Amino acid sequence: MNEIESSSCIFCRIARDEVPSQIVQRDDEVVAFEDLDPQAPRHVLVIPRRHISSVDDLDPGDAELAGRVLLASAEIARREGFAANGYRLVTNVGKDGGQSVDHWHVHLLAGRALSWPPG
Ligand code: AMP
Repeated sequence: MNEIESSSCIFCRIARDEVPSQIVQRDDEVVAFEDLDPQAPRHVLVIPRRHISSVDDLDPGDAELAGRVLLASAEIARREGFAANGYRLVTNVGKDGGQSVDHWHVHLLAGRALSWPPG
Protein backbone atom coordinates (compact mmCIF):
# COMPACT_ATOMS: atom_id res chain seq x y z
CA MET A 1 0.00 0.00 0.00
CA ASN A 2 1.43 3.38 -0.83
CA GLU A 3 0.87 6.41 1.42
CA ILE A 4 -1.30 8.28 -1.08
CA GLU A 5 -3.67 5.33 -1.33
CA SER A 6 -3.88 5.01 2.41
CA SER A 7 -4.52 8.70 3.06
CA SER A 8 -7.19 9.10 0.38
CA CYS A 9 -8.99 5.78 0.74
CA ILE A 10 -12.22 6.29 2.68
CA PHE A 11 -12.24 2.73 4.06
CA CYS A 12 -8.59 2.99 5.20
CA ARG A 13 -9.62 6.18 6.99
CA ILE A 14 -12.64 4.48 8.61
CA ALA A 15 -10.36 1.64 9.76
CA ARG A 16 -8.10 4.24 11.41
CA ASP A 17 -11.04 6.09 13.01
CA GLU A 18 -10.25 9.21 11.01
CA VAL A 19 -13.80 9.54 9.71
CA PRO A 20 -16.99 8.74 11.59
CA SER A 21 -18.69 5.40 11.07
CA GLN A 22 -20.89 2.99 12.96
CA ILE A 23 -18.37 0.32 13.90
CA VAL A 24 -19.86 -3.15 14.40
CA GLN A 25 -16.69 -4.96 15.43
CA ARG A 26 -12.96 -4.71 14.91
CA ASP A 27 -9.74 -6.49 15.65
CA ASP A 28 -6.14 -6.09 14.54
CA GLU A 29 -6.87 -7.17 10.98
CA VAL A 30 -10.56 -6.79 10.22
CA VAL A 31 -13.08 -3.97 10.70
CA ALA A 32 -16.85 -4.11 10.22
CA PHE A 33 -19.08 -1.05 10.00
CA GLU A 34 -22.58 -0.13 8.88
CA ASP A 35 -23.12 0.81 5.24
CA LEU A 36 -24.10 4.47 4.81
CA ASP A 37 -26.79 3.56 2.27
CA PRO A 38 -28.28 0.28 3.47
CA GLN A 39 -29.79 -2.03 0.84
CA ALA A 40 -31.38 -4.35 3.42
CA PRO A 41 -32.62 -4.01 7.01
CA ARG A 42 -29.08 -4.97 8.06
CA HIS A 43 -26.18 -3.97 5.82
CA VAL A 44 -22.66 -4.22 7.19
CA LEU A 45 -19.36 -3.86 5.36
CA VAL A 46 -16.48 -6.07 6.44
CA ILE A 47 -12.98 -5.02 5.37
CA PRO A 48 -9.35 -5.89 5.94
CA ARG A 49 -7.55 -3.02 7.68
CA ARG A 50 -4.76 -3.31 5.14
CA HIS A 51 -5.48 -1.68 1.82
CA ILE A 52 -6.28 -4.34 -0.79
CA SER A 53 -8.13 -2.85 -3.76
CA SER A 54 -10.36 -5.83 -4.51
CA VAL A 55 -10.55 -9.61 -4.54
CA ASP A 56 -8.65 -9.37 -7.80
CA ASP A 57 -5.66 -8.04 -5.84
CA LEU A 58 -5.54 -10.82 -3.26
CA ASP A 59 -2.31 -12.81 -3.25
CA PRO A 60 -1.91 -16.40 -2.07
CA GLY A 61 -0.25 -14.92 1.03
CA ASP A 62 -3.53 -13.16 1.84
CA ALA A 63 -5.40 -16.45 2.26
CA GLU A 64 -5.56 -16.23 6.04
CA LEU A 65 -6.65 -12.60 5.99
CA ALA A 66 -9.33 -13.36 3.40
CA GLY A 67 -10.56 -16.16 5.64
CA ARG A 68 -10.71 -13.79 8.59
CA VAL A 69 -12.85 -11.35 6.63
CA LEU A 70 -15.30 -14.15 5.78
CA LEU A 71 -15.29 -15.57 9.29
CA ALA A 72 -15.97 -12.12 10.76
CA SER A 73 -18.89 -11.69 8.34
CA ALA A 74 -20.42 -15.01 9.40
CA GLU A 75 -19.78 -14.28 13.08
CA ILE A 76 -21.66 -10.97 12.89
CA ALA A 77 -24.58 -12.60 11.08
CA ARG A 78 -24.75 -15.38 13.68
CA ARG A 79 -24.41 -13.02 16.65
CA GLU A 80 -27.14 -10.75 15.32
CA GLY A 81 -29.51 -13.68 14.81
CA PHE A 82 -29.54 -13.88 11.00
CA ALA A 83 -28.03 -17.35 10.58
CA ALA A 84 -31.32 -19.22 10.91
CA ASN A 85 -33.16 -17.35 8.15
CA GLY A 86 -30.03 -16.76 6.10
CA TYR A 87 -28.24 -13.77 4.66
CA ARG A 88 -26.07 -12.80 1.72
CA LEU A 89 -22.37 -12.01 1.46
CA VAL A 90 -21.42 -10.07 -1.66
CA THR A 91 -18.13 -8.72 -2.91
CA ASN A 92 -18.25 -6.59 -6.04
CA VAL A 93 -15.18 -6.52 -8.26
CA GLY A 94 -14.42 -3.76 -10.76
CA LYS A 95 -16.66 -1.79 -13.08
CA ASP A 96 -18.95 -4.55 -14.29
CA GLY A 97 -19.16 -5.96 -10.78
CA GLY A 98 -20.44 -2.60 -9.53
CA GLN A 99 -17.52 -1.85 -7.21
CA SER A 100 -17.53 1.81 -6.22
CA VAL A 101 -14.97 1.85 -3.38
CA ASP A 102 -11.53 0.51 -4.22
CA HIS A 103 -10.82 -1.15 -0.88
CA TRP A 104 -11.92 -4.77 -0.72
CA HIS A 105 -15.13 -5.18 1.26
CA VAL A 106 -17.71 -7.86 1.84
CA HIS A 107 -21.32 -6.70 2.04
CA LEU A 108 -23.34 -8.54 4.69
CA LEU A 109 -27.00 -8.15 3.73
CA ALA A 110 -29.67 -9.53 6.03
CA GLY A 111 -33.11 -9.07 7.45
CA ARG A 112 -35.29 -9.71 4.39
CA ALA A 113 -35.58 -12.23 1.56
CA LEU A 114 -33.13 -11.11 -1.13
CA SER A 115 -33.92 -11.55 -4.80
CA TRP A 116 -31.81 -13.60 -7.19
CA PRO A 117 -30.39 -13.23 -9.79
CA PRO A 118 -29.02 -9.69 -9.32
CA GLY A 119 -30.00 -7.09 -11.89
P1 AMP B 1 -19.42 -1.25 -3.67
O1 AMP B 1 -20.33 -0.48 -4.59
O2 AMP B 1 -19.57 -2.72 -3.71
O3 AMP B 1 -17.98 -0.79 -3.85
O4 AMP B 1 -19.86 -0.83 -2.21
C1 AMP B 1 -19.43 0.33 -1.58
C2 AMP B 1 -20.36 0.57 -0.43
O5 AMP B 1 -19.75 1.49 0.45
C3 AMP B 1 -21.71 1.15 -0.81
O6 AMP B 1 -22.74 0.27 -0.37
C4 AMP B 1 -21.74 2.49 -0.08
O7 AMP B 1 -23.02 2.80 0.40
C5 AMP B 1 -20.74 2.27 1.03
N1 AMP B 1 -20.07 3.45 1.54
C6 AMP B 1 -19.42 4.40 0.84
N2 AMP B 1 -18.87 5.31 1.67
C7 AMP B 1 -19.17 4.91 2.92
C8 AMP B 1 -18.90 5.42 4.22
N3 AMP B 1 -18.18 6.54 4.41
N4 AMP B 1 -19.37 4.74 5.30
C9 AMP B 1 -20.10 3.61 5.13
N5 AMP B 1 -20.39 3.08 3.94
C10 AMP B 1 -19.94 3.72 2.84
